[in-house]
Amino acid sequence: MASTINLNYDVAIIGGGSAGLASALKVDKAGLSCIILERDNKLGGILNQCIHNGFGLNYFKEELTGPEYAQKFIDKVKQTKINVLLNTTVLSIQDKFVLKAINSHGLININVKSIILATGCRERPAGAISLCGTRPAGIISAGSAQKIVNLYGKMIGKNIIIVGSGDIGLIMARRLRFEGANVIGVYEVMPYPSGLKRNIVQCLEDYNIPLHLSKTVVEVVGDERVEGVYVAPVKKDFSFDLTKKEFIPCDTIVLSIGLTPSNELAQDYGIIQNQITGGSVVDEYLQTSAQGIFQCGNSLHVHDIVDNVSKEAERAGENCAQYVNNLLSNTKKHSIINKNGLRYINPSFYYEGDGILTLNFRSSGIYKNVNIVVKSDGKEVRRIYKKIILPAEMETVIVAKNNLKSDVEIYLEEIKG
Ligand SMILES: Cc1cc2nc3c(=O)[nH]c(=O)nc-3n(C[C@H](O)[C@H](O)[C@H](O)COP(=O)(O)OP(=O)(O)OC[C@H]3O[C@@H](n4cnc5c(N)ncnc54)[C@H](O)[C@@H]3O)c2cc1C
Repeated sequence: MASTINLNYDVAIIGGGSAGLASALKVDKAGLSCIILERDNKLGGILNQCIHNGFGLNYFKEELTGPEYAQKFIDKVKQTKINVLLNTTVLSIQDKFVLKAINSHGLININVKSIILATGCRERPAGAISLCGTRPAGIISAGSAQKIVNLYGKMIGKNIIIVGSGDIGLIMARRLRFEGANVIGVYEVMPYPSGLKRNIVQCLEDYNIPLHLSKTVVEVVGDERVEGVYVAPVKKDFSFDLTKKEFIPCDTIVLSIGLTPSNELAQDYGIIQNQITGGSVVDEYLQTSAQGIFQCGNSLHVHDIVDNVSKEAERAGENCAQYVNNLLSNTKKHSIINKNGLRYINPSFYYEGDGILTLNFRSSGIYKNVNIVVKSDGKEVRRIYKKIILPAEMETVIVAKNNLKSDVEIYLEEIKG
C-alpha cells in the first residue's frame, strides 16, 4: 500500500513552466531550500509544445523556439540545489503551510515557509461560447491541436476554420498551413483581433489566410464529423445578422477563444480573486491575500510574451525569499486603482518606500493617440504617450515609488484633434 511521504523545504513552487523555473532560481540564489512540483513528466510547461520561434527576444536578446527558451532555464536549474518532483500534482494548500501532493509513490505532505503559485493557464472550452448546431467530431481547441500536431506528429483535419483570433489560433493557422491543410480563415466576433499584431502579420498576412473581423460561426453542421459551418456578420450590439449567413464547408473547427488562469489551488484556499483577470489579487510583491503565498506567470494574469513571465516570476522569487528571511518591508499599504480605458491593473496594492513600482494592465478597447496617466494624491507622477494601445498587448508602466504617498490612479486620456 502506498504510504504518505513527508518533506520539508523553505519554499515550494507549484508548476515547472517558465514562471516556476525563473522564480525557483531566485529562491535558490537567496540560499533557501526549494522544490518545484510539476504534474507533467518534464519541466518547461506550455513552452514544450510551442516549437515556433519568437521567444526570448527581450530576455535573452535572441530569437528562440519555446523548447530552446525553456531549456536555458532548465540547464540553470540543473546546476543548483533546487529539487524537482515531476509527475507530481499538488492537490491542495492545507493550513499554513502544508501542501498535499500526489504521485505514483502515494500522497506527499510538503511542509514549507512560503509558496509560489506558478500553475499557468488553460484554454476556454467550446462551452464558453454559444456554439449552436450539432456536436460532431472535429471541434478542437487550438492548444490541443498544437499538442497533437507538434508533439504527436498527427494532423487534425484537412479543411479547417479557426474561431477566435487569440495568439494560439493564429500560430496554429500558420502551422496547419505548413502541414498542408487548407486553412479557410479566422473568424473573430470582435471588431479587432485578440492576438498580437506580429502574429497577425507573420501567421496570417504572410500566408494569405483571411481574418474576418465582426464575423463568427452561428451554426455547426455535421453528423459524425464536422461537415461545415454557417458564419454570419456580428452587429454592433453583438447580435448576428442572420440574413447574411453563409455556409462554409470544412471538416475541422479550431477554437482560439481565450485563456484563463489555472487558479483553483488559490481559490480553494480562500485567497481573494481578481474577477477580471481570473488570477489572485496581489500586492507589489506579487503576494496574495494569504501572507507568504506568491503568484506569478499565466496563473496570475494571462501574458502574451514569455519574457515578461520570466521577469515577473523572478520578482516573485526574490520577494518570496525576502519574506522567508523576514526582510519584506511592511510599510503603509495603498491601493492602485484602474480608471478610464483600463480593463484591469496588476498589482492592486503598493507599500510606501523607495524603489520602483511595476504596473501591468490591458486596455478595455483600442485607443489611438492616447496618454497613460498615473496620479497619486491628485498629482501627476507619470505620463506616457502612445500612438496606439490594443487589448491584445499587455502594457507595462514603471513608476518611481518615492513620488507616491497615497492611493495611485492610472487611466487613459485621449488626445483630442
Ligand atoms: C500556445 C501558446 C503560444 C505562445 N507563443 C508565444 C510566443 O510566440 N512568444 C512568446 O514570447 N510567448 C508565447 N506564449 C506565451 C508564453 O509561452 C507563456 O505565457 C508562458 O510560457 C507561460 O508560463 P507559465 O509558467 O506561467 O505557465 P505554463 O508554461 O503553463 O506552466 C505551468 C505549469 O504548471 C503545471 N501545473 C499546473 N497545475 C499544477 C498542479 N496542481 N500541480 C503541479 N503542477 C501543476 C503545469 O503542468 C505546467 O507545466 C505562448 C503561449 C501559448 C499557450
